[in-house]
Amino acid sequence: MGDRNAPGAVQVITEPDYEAMIIGAHPDDDDFGAGATSALWAKQGKKVVWVVMTNGVEGGEAPDMDDEEFMLTREQEQRAAAEVYGVKAVEFLRFPDGHLTNNEETRKAIVRLIRKYRPRVVLTHDPSTFLMAPDPNEEPEATGHINHPDHRATGSIVLDAIFPYVGNPRSYRDLIAQGYMPYRVHELYLFYTERSNTYVDVTETIDIKAQGLKCHVTQFGPDVDFSSSLRERAAKTAKEAKEKLNLDMQFAEAFRRVKLHIPPTPADEAPTEVAE
Ligand SMILES: [Zn+2]
Repeated sequence: MGDRNAPGAVQVITEPDYEAMIIGAHPDDDDFGAGATSALWAKQGKKVVWVVMTNGVEGGEAPDMDDEEFMLTREQEQRAAAEVYGVKAVEFLRFPDGHLTNNEETRKAIVRLIRKYRPRVVLTHDPSTFLMAPDPNEEPEATGHINHPDHRATGSIVLDAIFPYVGNPRSYRDLIAQGYMPYRVHELYLFYTERSNTYVDVTETIDIKAQGLKCHVTQFGPDVDFSSSLRERAAKTAKEAKEKLNLDMQFAEAFRRVKLHIPPTPADEAPTEVAE
């Protein structure tokens, strides 16, 4: 940490503007990862922004489909879904789907957006999840899958952006010159994780998640109905919340929560009395 009284020192902002920024690799990842939580927070009047890292053009089965047209269609679907959840803003970064890497350009794009919206909480993919695979001894009929490399790349880009860059007045000074000031993110919530420690009660909004996902017609067709599968999965997550933390919920979304900055309370700031 540098000297905040140094000549020309810039104060790092700790006061958030938005409550949450959800950052997913593809259109529909923000929905699956934190759709019901987003809808709940939006219902509570909190400002939520979604970010989509890639253009989504590899999420289809027809090789001849025009990329530009497909990208725009998926963005339109994502905007429609965001509206269902009550999300205030959506940002599309349009990096190449299927080929996302943690590099200078992708990190800088995220630094800019976090400094722009100043979310209290950032939600993104857990970059340490390589496999999502049940133990065949416990669930012999279930198949596992390999976590998409774009999901892992997104998680690692976002974590690197948050630390060390977003809050560092000497990082990305060209962004600072444009008004994107250094900012300290308070908390991180990771989804698609196998190390959940936080459960959000989404009983009120689980059906909104099903409605939002219906907007992604290019992915699931016009007649998809996720309501029972989502309820089933969220009930399983709620059961895990009961087992792990003794929480009573009907439907839940799970995250690995990390606290990065705890704002001082007024009591902390009050002058300390010196014992005589
Ligand atoms: Zn994805």
